[in-house]
Amino acid sequence: MSKYAFQTEVNQLLDLMIHSLYSNREIFLRELISNASDALDKLKFLTVSDDRFKTIAFEPKIQIRFDAADRKWLEISDNGIGMNEADLIENLGTIAKSGTKNFVSRLTGDRKKDSNLIGQFGVGFYSAFMVADTIEVIAKKVGEDKAYKWTSDGKGEYTIEEANRESFGATVRLNLKEDGKEFANRWTLESAIKKYSNHIPFPIFMEYEQVEYDDKGKEKGKTQKNDQIGSATALWKRPKNSIKPEEYQEFYKTISHDSGEIMATIHTQAEGALEYTTLFFIPKRAPFDLHRMDYRSGVKLYVKRVFITDDDKELLPVYLRFVRGVIDSEDLPLNVSREILQQNKILANIKSASVKKILGEIKKLSEDKEKYAEFHKEFGRCVKEGLYSDYANKDELLELARFKTTKDEGLCGFAEYKERMKADQKAIYYIAGLSESLLRNSPLLESYKAEGLEVLIMDDEIDEIVISQIGEYKGTPLKAINKSGADDDLPKTRDEETIKAAEPIAQKVKKALGDAVKEVKISARLSGSPACLILDENDPSVQMRQMFKAMGAMSESEIKPILELNPSHEIIQKIGAIEDEALISDVSFLVLEQAQLIAGMTLKDPAAFGARLSKILAKAM
Ligand code: ADP
Repeated sequence: MSKYAFQTEVNQLLDLMIHSLYSNREIFLRELISNASDALDKLKFLTVSDDRFKTIAFEPKIQIRFDAADRKWLEISDNGIGMNEADLIENLGTIAKSGTKNFVSRLTGDRKKDSNLIGQFGVGFYSAFMVADTIEVIAKKVGEDKAYKWTSDGKGEYTIEEANRESFGATVRLNLKEDGKEFANRWTLESAIKKYSNHIPFPIFMEYEQVEYDDKGKEKGKTQKNDQIGSATALWKRPKNSIKPEEYQEFYKTISHDSGEIMATIHTQAEGALEYTTLFFIPKRAPFDLHRMDYRSGVKLYVKRVFITDDDKELLPVYLRFVRGVIDSEDLPLNVSREILQQNKILANIKSASVKKILGEIKKLSEDKEKYAEFHKEFGRCVKEGLYSDYANKDELLELARFKTTKDEGLCGFAEYKERMKADQKAIYYIAGLSESLLRNSPLLESYKAEGLEVLIMDDEIDEIVISQIGEYKGTPLKAINKSGADDDLPKTRDEETIKAAEPIAQKVKKALGDAVKEVKISARLSGSPACLILDENDPSVQMRQMFKAMGAMSESEIKPILELNPSHEIIQKIGAIEDEALISDVSFLVLEQAQLIAGMTLKDPAAFGARLSKILAKAM
């Protein structure tokens, strides 16, 4: 038996591992299974690349065994490449990677901070000391005769001696600490393995004893079982053309816990400067928590098929939170911590490429109008969120946004609108409000209809906020038709003289309404209705105001509208003709209130409105 001292940095690392409180100690299993999987990967490579190993009988597998009776030990074995004496010294006595070594040697005395930082490096094997007093590794390198046993209690030294082991591979035996005993349990192991290593591409077996009972419930005996845990295939790593749609669907279910269907699958196997695989799904139906602040992330991060996290909302932008799937990187270190993930360049690159891919797929969906309407119903809002949060992809997102329109029943995008624009049309017109039917019946639309100009109907809360961010589409400005100045581009249907002649009516009405309105104007083009309300260009809309009001930031009456009167309408002309001040006041208010109702506003004083209406009706009858 030979005794060795750990490299200084290993001691520092071990000290931290043992003394820092890790919240999820079960990750040691992930580390050991991942090491076993790597060892199998290496041997697998040799059997295909090296003539000396092409003939060996190799059925890769990972075997878990534990001491069910006394819960004293737990073993993880593999029939991978194995290790010889030199390998054991090199791999389990030193830290080989210089980056890690430098990092560890710079560790300070601040344990809490260090244990956070340490997450970014492959602490791997040593993490087993979180649950074990002593660890034995019995290994035999493939193609060699001798087996060796490495033993350590993680306190500065380890020993290596010759040992017996029938076949190549390695067995890591953990002699469990008092508070590591929970891991000598079938269910604990199974759930941790399924959680972290379900997509390891090699079969993982676990031996356990099944107790048999007779019909009186008395123990009859025990049978030894050895069951495979997990599927042993990383679906996303298989060649794309070998995967059937049903298989994608099944996989979607296991990762999303959604029994619904998928609308689109986006599978990317990238090779080159960065090697990674992404498999994303767009579900048919939105998850229930889509619009909740505490929504669950739908993307799992793997590194070399080893599960890292499913709780990182930064893997994709927030607006794509409906996407489900997997990112598997070959380049990230296994033990990336959350802090590191967020500023990691590799991941940032994968993320931006993924967003482009997903938007590209949505673009494809948009080519089928019917299908896209389905998508838009579920996730259109998210696309619009993207318009104000993802500046880098603004152009792509602009092509994906859809709105209702005065042209037809369906949805319309900016490109389609622009295609239909009249040759001399100066802007993309829209009207925003909270109710589609109110908007469609707005008197403001009259003159646009008469001119054959299409107006987008924006009745989604988010529309207006988004629109104010967009400003224009490919050089064409977006204009709200319920704001002053919007109709400057429209041909005037009324000449200056008619407008001027009606000016005294406007003054009369303004005098009657007083502070209730900002201004009363004679409309240049209103044709059917007696009046309509518009907003000063810089004032927030009704929608915005209601939002501010809901937030307690503003009362609804604070912003005063501009009332436009139609001088060709009988009511307005009659106001011009009468002198009875009380009647002028009643009618002026009724005209204003009617316009307010049509614009979807709530009346400040409904009782007064009722009284006025009754009075006038009685008079008329
Ligand atoms: P990492 O896996 O990040 O390299 P570890 O500390 O987990 O770091 O392992 C150190 C090295 O020990 C591995 O790189 C590998 O060469 C070797 N090793 C660990 N476990 C096994 C195993 N089951 N079979 C063969 N080699 C192993």
